[in-house]
Amino acid sequence: MIRYALICDEAHEFEAWFSNSQAYDDQAERGLVECPHCGSLSVRKALAAPAVSTSRSREARSEQKKLAEMAGKVRAHIRQNFDYVGEDFAREARDMHEGRKEARLIYGESSAEETRQLIEDGVEVTPLPDALAPLPPKKAN
Ligand SMILES: [Zn+2]
Repeated sequence: MIRYALICDEAHEFEAWFSNSQAYDDQAERGLVECPHCGSLSVRKALAAPAVSTSRSREARSEQKKLAEMAGKVRAHIRQNFDYVGEDFAREARDMHEGRKEARLIYGESSAEETRQLIEDGVEVTPLPDALAPLPPKKAN
C-alpha cells in the first residue's frame, strides 16, 4: 500500500491509500479519486514534502505548509485570470506573438518540444512545475 497526499482544485488537502502508484494513476485518470471535502474529482498529488526528522521538523513542516498554500494561490490566480486553451496553447501563443490574435493571458498544455520552439522563437511562455499548474477547469458536463 502507498499513501499519497492529494489536493483538489479547491485546494483541499487530504490523504488516500492506494495499492500501488499504478492504482493511483488508473483511478485518478478514470475520475474515481474524490475530494472528501467537496467531492471534486479534479485531484492531483500534493507537493512532495521530504520527511524531516530533526529538531527543525516542526519549522520545516510549517514552511512546507506555507509553500503548499502559496502554490494553491498561484494555481487559483492562474485559473481566475487566464483563459484555458487546452492543447491549442502553442498555436494560440504563437498567433498572439505574431499579431494574428489580440494578446491575452492564456494557459494550457503544450509538449516539451512545442515549448522549446516557442521559447526559441521569442514567444513569452512560462513552463509551470506541476505543483503550480492549475488543473483544467471543469467541463460543463
Ligand atoms: Zn475539495
